[in-house]
Amino acid sequence: PSPINSALHLNIRILPYGEGQRLLVVQDVTRLHQLERMRRDFIASVSHELRTPLTVLRGYLEILEKGKNVGSESWNRSFKTMGEQVGRMQHLVEDLLMLSRLESRDKKPAETPVAVPKMLAEICQEARILSGDRQHQIHLEADAALWLRGNEQELHSAFSNLVVNAIRYTPAQGNITLHWFKQQAGRPCLEVRDTGEGIAAEHLPRVTERFYRIDKGRSRKRGGTGLGLAIVKHVLSHHEAHLEIESELGKGSVFRCLFSIGRGQQPKVHFSKTG
Ligand code: ADP
Repeated sequence: PSPINSALHLNIRILPYGEGQRLLVVQDVTRLHQLERMRRDFIASVSHELRTPLTVLRGYLEILEKGKNVGSESWNRSFKTMGEQVGRMQHLVEDLLMLSRLESRDKKPAETPVAVPKMLAEICQEARILSGDRQHQIHLEADAALWLRGNEQELHSAFSNLVVNAIRYTPAQGNITLHWFKQQAGRPCLEVRDTGEGIAAEHLPRVTERFYRIDKGRSRKRGGTGLGLAIVKHVLSHHEAHLEIESELGKGSVFRCLFSIGRGQQPKVHFSKTG
């Protein structure tokens, strides 16, 4: 039986080889084909993501150009929508730049001891502002004596993406809990737990792919770019850490960032454990 399946791409060439002989060269180019397809899909996704807000902007500009109803309520509403769409594009471009920096491995970013408890407290403050009227209950429990060696900007971006997602996919007044602690084996761990809508098992293996979203419309409406978890995955892999996700549909999710023991750092000044 042939081991060749339909996804295999082969380059086959027959070359002259000595007296009356031929050489058959079979080259497996499956990986090249896959990479090429990924590149095409990526460009298509980015173009699509940018086209939607641009179309909205263009429509509103045409209305404003007609110059009717200057200063009216609908005029103001148009400006507000245009501002939101510009914000959305800006957010997308920032995430794309972040991802491209993470993926180009020519320069390893600077690493320092990072005060994770303070960083998480700041992220929680930002999250409360983002939650606004939706009034999520956001709790932080952090081991103040546990810092991490890593790149501060990257870690901030990864942790913040997890918390923003928790807010985005948890209904109003739901609970979001951050727990920063040393696991029994001594590994530093951040857990972001929410009581949100959860993720069905079949989607779990794919949610860290670029632009993979369970419900595109819902993610967009809530300001998602589809790149958040791809950024988290890259940042963690730069720190030899990995992401574990547990989730139950309708109940909530736990996103766990697990670092190696060697990444843990003592703070410059020793604090006792706080709640
Ligand atoms: P997005 O910008 O769409 O949130 P992400 O890469 O951050 O993109 O997440 C990918 C998808 O995973 C989301 O569109 C959403 O469907 C799902 N997801 C991420 N975090 C959560 C969460 N805390 N609860 C439920 N679903 C989530």
